[in-house]
Amino acid sequence: VKAKIAVNGYGTIGKRVADAVQAQDDMEVIGISKTKPNYEAAVAHQLGYDIYAPAENVGAFEKAGMRAAGTIEEMIEKADLVVDCTPGGIGEGNKPLYQKAGVKAIWQGGESHTIAGFSFNAASNYEGALGRDLVRVVSCNTTGLCRVISPIDRELGVKKVRVTLARRAADPNDVKKGPINAIVPDPIKLPSHHGPDVRSVLPQIDITTAALKIPTTLMHVHTVNMEVNTDCTADDIKKIFGSQSRIRFVGQGISSTAEIIEFARDIRRPRNDMWENCIWAESITVHEKEFYFFQAIHQESIVVPENVDAIRAMMELESDGAKSIEKTNKAIGL
Ligand code: NAD
Repeated sequence: VKAKIAVNGYGTIGKRVADAVQAQDDMEVIGISKTKPNYEAAVAHQLGYDIYAPAENVGAFEKAGMRAAGTIEEMIEKADLVVDCTPGGIGEGNKPLYQKAGVKAIWQGGESHTIAGFSFNAASNYEGALGRDLVRVVSCNTTGLCRVISPIDRELGVKKVRVTLARRAADPNDVKKGPINAIVPDPIKLPSHHGPDVRSVLPQIDITTAALKIPTTLMHVHTVNMEVNTDCTADDIKKIFGSQSRIRFVGQGISSTAEIIEFARDIRRPRNDMWENCIWAESITVHEKEFYFFQAIHQESIVVPENVDAIRAMMELESDGAKSIEKTNKAIGL
C-alpha cells in the first residue's frame, strides 16, 4: 500500500510537492487544501486532486462548481503524513492539528528549526529522519548550500564557508513584493540568517553569509567561497560536484539565470522547474586550499525532491538515502 500524503497549502511549493509525490510508486496524494476556489484550485480540481477547504469556505467551493471533498481537518484525519506548505509562520499554528490527529508532519523553510527539532537535506542527513514524526525541510537557499557543502566536507574536510547570496525579490506570480528598481542589503546587520540555517542541518560547519535582494523573480545566485583542509585542484572539485545527481553544471553559452530558465523550458521541465543546483563549472577557481564558484538556485522547485525524500525517510519506505534520491529523481524526470 502507498503512503497517504496530504498537502496543506497549495501554492508555489505545495502544487509542485503534490505532483512530485503523485509521480512516485510508494506514496500518493490523498488530498490538497485550498483556502479559496480560485484559478489554482480550479487547476488542482482538473488534475484530479481531492480539494479540502477550511470549514467556513466549503460552501464557496460548491458554489464555484468544484465541490470540496471535506474540511482540512477531515483531510488530515485520512493522511499518514501531511506536508505543510502554508506561508512561512502559518505552519506553526497547524502543529496542534497534526498532533491531535496523530499524523506525521513536514514543514518548510519558512518555519523555524524548533517546530520539528530536525532540519532535513537529503544529501546531508537522510538517515537522521528515518521514522521521525516531525521534520522541517530547509529553505531553497539552505538546500542549495547543504548540497554543495556536504560532499566537499566528506571528501576534503571543510574549514570554513563564506557566501554572498543575491536573492530573487519575489516569485514570478507574486504581484505584491519588490523591489522593482533597487538592490537591498537584507539584512543590513551581518551575518544573515542563512549561515545559522545551514548549521541546523550541518552543525559542524563554520559558515557566515551576507544577502542582497535584487529585482528578479527567476532564481537566486550564490557566490560561494570555501576553505578546505586538503590540497585540491579545480578538477577535484568538479569531480566531487559531478558525482552529485542534484548538481548540474551549466555552460554552453548559459551566462545568466534567464538562460537557465529557458534551458529548463527547452528540456520540457514541468513549470520550467530546475530541481538541481546550477553551477558554472568555469567559475570554479582554486587558490591554495580555498576555492570559489557561482551557483544558481531555482527557488520554486529545489526543495521539491527533498520533500519526497523526507516523506520516504519518515515513513521508512527506504532506509538508504542514496537509493531514495535515485528513486525520487527517476520518478520526476531529474
Ligand atoms: P505561497 O504563498 O505560494 O503558498 C502558500 C499557500 O498556502 C497558498 O496557496 C495559500 O492560499 C495557502 N494557505 C494560506 N494559509 C493557509 C491555511 N491556514 N491553511 C491552508 N492553506 C493556507 O507560499 P510558498 O512560496 O509556497 O511557501 C510555502 C513555504 O515554503 C514557506 O514556508 C516558504 O518559506 C517555503 N519555501 C518557499 C520557497 C519559495 O521560493 N517560494 C522556497 C523554499 C521554501
